Amino acid sequence: MTTRIAIIGAGPCGLAQLRAFQSAAAQGAEIPELVCYEKQSDWGGMWNYTWRTGLDEHGEPVHGSMYRYLWSNGPKECLEFADYTFDEHFGRPMGSYPPREVLWDYIKGRVEKAGVRKYIQFNTAVRNVTYDEAIGKFNVTVHSYDRDLTSTEQFDYVVVASGHFSTPNVPYFEGFERFAGRVLHAHDFRDALEFKGKDVLVVGASYSAEDIGSQCYKYGARSITSCYRNEPMGYKWPENWEEKPLLQSVSGNTAYFADGSSKHVDAIILCTGYKHHFPFLIEELRLKTDNRLWPLNLYKGIFWEDNPKLIYLGMQDQWYSFNMFDAQAWYARDVILGRIALPDDAHMHAEDLAWRQEEETLENAQQMFEFQGEYIRQLIEATDYPSFNISEVNRTFLEWKHDKYEDIMGYRNKCHRSLMTGTLATPHHTNWLEALDDSLEAYLAETPQAGIKAVG
Ligand code: FAD
Ligand code: NAP
Repeated sequence: MTTRIAIIGAGPCGLAQLRAFQSAAAQGAEIPELVCYEKQSDWGGMWNYTWRTGLDEHGEPVHGSMYRYLWSNGPKECLEFADYTFDEHFGRPMGSYPPREVLWDYIKGRVEKAGVRKYIQFNTAVRNVTYDEAIGKFNVTVHSYDRDLTSTEQFDYVVVASGHFSTPNVPYFEGFERFAGRVLHAHDFRDALEFKGKDVLVVGASYSAEDIGSQCYKYGARSITSCYRNEPMGYKWPENWEEKPLLQSVSGNTAYFADGSSKHVDAIILCTGYKHHFPFLIEELRLKTDNRLWPLNLYKGIFWEDNPKLIYLGMQDQWYSFNMFDAQAWYARDVILGRIALPDDAHMHAEDLAWRQEEETLENAQQMFEFQGEYIRQLIEATDYPSFNISEVNRTFLEWKHDKYEDIMGYRNKCHRSLMTGTLATPHHTNWLEALDDSLEAYLAETPQAGIKAVG
């Protein structure tokens, strides 16, 4: 009987899994039957922008956490697919930090070329996954919105590619229920223009805090205050941006901080991260972890140790992204195709623990991306995914960190060299701070004027 694989989600991870199998098929391999369920009406996951917040048109929690005017926060040279380069897709060099729509176009280009859309059932949410020990198969229950039908099918493998930046972690601060302005989580942030002329407080000290604060600055907020729980972000902020220790309480429009200071704020944006959330998996199959480089109980960061036929992709905190998902998807494919044998339980668990122990010794960003780079290098070495120079990607990450500390509002104007093709990025026609139109059309235009749309 044909082996059947269910893939949950058609974001970068799910698409990597489809592309991995298609690439084996293109070389003559016999591949299993693939069914990818995607609850949205199009592919690209987080990169497929939605204006919606709260519930979607089907009453399902909105998946998207990306916002208008979002540009890549890391160099595109660090996330480039090794089997489908930016040069191949765009046919010419471009800047190193493209906006969301440009990266979405790139993601789509690869899978359109591979012809894998036929495997995806859109508008179909996975509701429940159980495992039947007696027959060694998963029961996957899905709801098709198009047909308004719930049905269950059996699969030999399940690939969880549903992402982990969608279910917000929302802490409470005293006085929130009576705050005289707006409180929202980063997940529901969409348009920075809403905060033009306002005093904005962002809570958190990671990428969302840094970038949402920067968006608000760019689009005309009167002031930005960011506050941290452990460590400040410590960049050279513009004059109207102040960094404070953690918020303690609010009263009316006044926010009170741990150092005893207070400030008037109009809006509070909780950039406090996300929860790994898999409501569709029964308890014994469910990964439970915080956002970190080595979640436990996944052999090779991929296979659920208690039942390695359950595969998780992209569950790590991400320095590397698209090419890490590829490395995992190619490895998972080769295990499913019988090209790589899994070791026994004890070996799997020991290796998993060894990675975790090493992860716990990491002290700074450089050690962290080197750790993740080494993980990816080992995965790639075992498959036919095109190898690339991980040390050079690490060096590019280091340059990026340096650029951010030099100029947090200007690092996106820098250019890096592709580690896949050697092509040096060319400066975008407009500095990031002045580039208010983030559309694909405006970005790819030769001059700032051509293709520009009104913003605001
Ligand atoms: P996702 O992209 O989240 O895709 C998961 C898919 O699964 C979605 O399409 C979703 O609809 C579907 N799904 C979920 N549950 C179900 C279900 N029950 N049934 C059916 N389908 C389901 N990374 C970068 O490399 N560079 C960046 O600049 C960058 N910016 C980011 C900005 C923000 C605000 C956020 C939140 C993340 C950003 N990321 C960035 C990280 C981003 O998450 C990854 O690039 C990538 O999208 C992860 O891919 P994924 O497939 O794991 O998850
Ligand atoms: P994150 O990296 O997990 O960071 C969560 C932050 O919330 C941390 O600073 C954490 O503080 C803080 N936090 C959590 N609970 C808190 C509490 N109770 N009180 C105060 N602070 C609390 O999440 P993220 O910043 O949302 O980033 C998620 C992903 O989105 C990343 O992959 C990132 O790259 C991506 N992203 C990209 C862009 C872009 O520009 N392209 C923009 C935004 C996000 P501690 O540091 O003290 O733990």
